[in-house]
Formats: sequence, structure tokens, C-alpha cells
Amino acid sequence: MQLREWAHELGFSQIGVAAVDLGAAEAGLMEWLAQGFHGSMHYMQRHGARRARPAELVPGTLSVITARMDYLPRASPQGWQAVEWQRLREPQQATVSIYARGRDYHKVLRTRLQALATRLAESVGPLGARVFTDSAPVLEVELAARSGLGWRGKHTLALQRDGGSMFFLGEIFVDLALPATPPAASHCGSCRACIDVCPTQAIVAPYRLDARRCISYLTIEHAGAIPEAMRPHLGNRIYGCDDCQLVCPWNKYARVSTLADFDARAPLDGATLLQLWVWDEAEFLRRTEGSAIRRIGHARWQRNLAVALGNALRAAPDAAIEQALRRRRAGADALLAEHIDWALRQLTAAPPAPPATAAG
Ligand code: SF4
Ligand code: SF4
Repeated sequence: MQLREWAHELGFSQIGVAAVDLGAAEAGLMEWLAQGFHGSMHYMQRHGARRARPAELVPGTLSVITARMDYLPRASPQGWQAVEWQRLREPQQATVSIYARGRDYHKVLRTRLQALATRLAESVGPLGARVFTDSAPVLEVELAARSGLGWRGKHTLALQRDGGSMFFLGEIFVDLALPATPPAASHCGSCRACIDVCPTQAIVAPYRLDARRCISYLTIEHAGAIPEAMRPHLGNRIYGCDDCQLVCPWNKYARVSTLADFDARAPLDGATLLQLWVWDEAEFLRRTEGSAIRRIGHARWQRNLAVALGNALRAAPDAAIEQALRRRRAGADALLAEHIDWALRQLTAAPPAPPATAAG
């Protein structure tokens, strides 16, 4: 199919087509919302069942073209997971989720999905098409699974036998009836590595994530104070978390990107916490220009760093970290001040208790 060739030229490694009836996924979605697992992501609730009904979200939609774009930076070494585990063991290093080290994927995917839609329209004639990526109203993983881009792993992300899970998903809703591609079969089997490794026990059951406990949610989506019980378990993760993907056996097949966009930008792949802590807002905005990190703003960035610096102090007292925290305390707003005070208390804190296993 020519669409597939165009997609490859545009940097997508796989595309599929899903029909618009996601009825079977609707009950699971509503139950997840009813249990409050979405935390403060109220937009998820707002879109409600419409998320499982693409034709209601974009009237006239007859098919959804799904697309996968691998994002491992081109320079990733063999055994990149070991490099990441090592970084997580060094309390003074900063860990930023791999997907966020390069250019903002929203922009990269949107532009390329739009280009794909334009090529399709040139070929078939006028076309109603709307592109989405990482968009709240769209059940991305469900669409991906139905169209063969991957199965939904126990960590709730899509993964693929020949590509692991280190990829972004995007969709084009079209008013064109295209033949659906077959779904992907699940290959998690009896594995539960992602459930066991999760630092906050956020995967409360296979295929069920309590976002309120997930470090990705807490460091990126969540606006207020980070719950104290969770803070020790963030370690040095200041933006997102990759642990459930690092441990997944299928990620030995993860593929590096064909695009330079996702190359890691210095210093996001090798900075110390202190190097990032000293950025004022102007420097934060300058250094994160074109990056997804910019979306969380300087206040949340500093909040996350304060927690990680506290965790570093608990691991080993350090005069430079202590002084840097105290210096920033003077001009801090209430939210940051509270996190700095917590961080300083870690100098005398007992080792954290393991996270309580959540039952819901
Ligand atoms: S991203 Fe991290 S905190 Fe969230 S479920 Fe995966 S391992 Fe747990
Ligand atoms: S770690 Fe195991 S259970 Fe989790 S997604 Fe990967 S294969 Fe599935």
C-alpha cells in the first residue's frame, strides 16, 4: 500500500487502520475513571465515553489511521538500558525520561501526520482528516492494539515484538472507509517485570495503572504538591519515568529513531541535579525551547528537582546541595518552599518505607 511507503518516508515505522467501533473498550475506560485512577487529569473525565467513539469526536470519521514512530535517540548504545539503570543509581544525577530528551514529539508527529494526510488527499481527492498525537480524547493504545501496532502491555503502554515500546503513537481520523489491519496478539504471557519494578507500585494490577501513583504523572501532569509518601520513591527522576519500559524484555528489540529530532539535547542526558537547579526561569525557557519539558513550566521543574535533591541528601549529606537548597528557599513561593523544607529534612530522615501496595 502506498500509504505505508509515504509513512516510512516521513519517519513512521509502522501504520495500521482501525475501525471506529471501540465499544468493548468503553466499559474499562469508564471503570478506570470511576475509580479515580486518572487523578487530577480532569480532562480525561470531561471527554468521558466520547473517547471510545471516534465518530462522535470527529463527526464523519469512518476509519482511524494509526502510526508508530520510534524515538530512541540515534546515538543510543547497545545495552542502553544498562546506562539508564546506572544513572538511576547515582542520586546526584538527573534523570529525564528518554522520550523527552529531544525535540517536542507533539510537534514532530503532528507535522508528519499532517503531511501524510495531505499526501493521501492528493491521491484520493478531497478528504476530511484530523490528526492527533498523545491527545486526551483519543484512546491511543486501544486504537494501536486493534490495528496491529502493538498489544497493550501490563504497564498499559503499547508494545510490539519487533519494536518494544519506545515509540510514540499518532492517529489520523479520516472520512474514508479503509480496510482495517489485523490486531496484535498479546505476548506478555506470565511476565510481570514491569509490575514488580515500579518504584511506586503504580501498576495496581495487570493492565491497570493508578496514575496518581505514577512518577510520569506526578512529575509532569500533576500541578500541586507531590504527595510526601511518594517523594522518596521518585529517586532522581525529575521528568517522567522509564522503569517499566527499561525492564521489559521486549525492549531489547526497541529501534532507534530515523530522525534527528529525538537526539538527546545536552544537558538533558547527563546533567547533575545541581546543574539544573541553578537555572532561573529565563534560562529554563531558553534551554527547553522546542522541548516537551517546557510545557511543565519552571515552577514544576523546580518542585521536581527539590524532591530529587532531597533524595540525594538522604543518600549522602552534601554541603553544596544543602547550600543551594537554602539559597533558593528565600525567594521561593509556598509550594516550592514546602518541597525545599522537605528536601532539607531528608538529611536526618530514616530510610523510606517501601511503597504501600495499592489496592485501588
Ligand atoms: S512510569 Fe514509572 S512510576 Fe509509572 S508505572 Fe511505569 S515504572 Fe511505575
Ligand atoms: S515487562 Fe513483561 S508484563 Fe510488562 S509489558 Fe513487558 S512483557 Fe508485558
